[in-house]
Amino acid sequence: MSSIQNRFKINFWGVRGSIPCPGAETVRYGGNTPCIEMQVAGERLIFDGGTGLRVLGQSLLSEMPLEAHIFFTHSHWDHIQGFPFFVPAFVKGNRFNIYGAVAPNGATIKQRHHDQMLHPNFPVPLQIMQANLQFYDITPGETLKIGEIAIENAKLNHPGEAVGYRVSWQGITVAYVTDTEHFPDRLDPNVLWLAREADLLIIDAAYTDEEYYSEKSSKVGWGHSTWQEAVKVAAAAQVKKLVIFHHDPLHNDDTLDRIGEEVSAAFPNSVMAREGESIEFLPQAS
Ligand SMILES: [Zn+2]
Ligand SMILES: [Zn+2]
Repeated sequence: MSSIQNRFKINFWGVRGSIPCPGAETVRYGGNTPCIEMQVAGERLIFDGGTGLRVLGQSLLSEMPLEAHIFFTHSHWDHIQGFPFFVPAFVKGNRFNIYGAVAPNGATIKQRHHDQMLHPNFPVPLQIMQANLQFYDITPGETLKIGEIAIENAKLNHPGEAVGYRVSWQGITVAYVTDTEHFPDRLDPNVLWLAREADLLIIDAAYTDEEYYSEKSSKVGWGHSTWQEAVKVAAAAQVKKLVIFHHDPLHNDDTLDRIGEEVSAAFPNSVMAREGESIEFLPQAS
């Protein structure tokens, strides 16, 4: 029933934060860093280019030539390190529209992709990529339109800044909010605005409250949030379904199982993000 023109499908290619962590203990939730694909009304939107982007690229080889829109939350390594290994970007005839906010030091998203591929840290410069790459600097707070799809964004509380996105089409809304740290005394109005009444909220909850406030190794100021805060946001913003995302590399599968049970008890319509899984929405018949 769901032709590609008539659906909103979210595919999780990388759900891990900070650093890839493959291995026997992370095989069920996955070890690749952030990359989310949204297939909306026949368009392909990609959020972040962590190592999950490499795997997505392999899956796209049979669909070339292709066009996609790639949105970056920020350029910490775990969100861009898959891009130099995104094979479709090396193939002439493909087109990628690449979006990101200007960093606090003035560097554009193009500049930062260029820089991560420079010698001697990487052997192949950005210019070798043969696809048509169009870079766009987004302004926090603006709304982008791609056909009937609206993409809003807002600044997040993160070292070096990040932006969260909110994608809406035919009454379906999905918010992608990573990397972000909660405030000690109030919910972040930007996060609430992005998440407002969303059908799906994918949110950074790298830690538990116990880890975040640990006296021995506090995570305060590290730029990430907790599942307990994610639940508060989801409830306050009247989110329908909550996805816990940007898993800490120290959280193995059993730990994530355990956290998932606690999250479900606090917010029943919730899941732990899992590499390789998909969530699909169909517009209500009008
Ligand atoms: Zn991150
Ligand atoms: Zn970050």
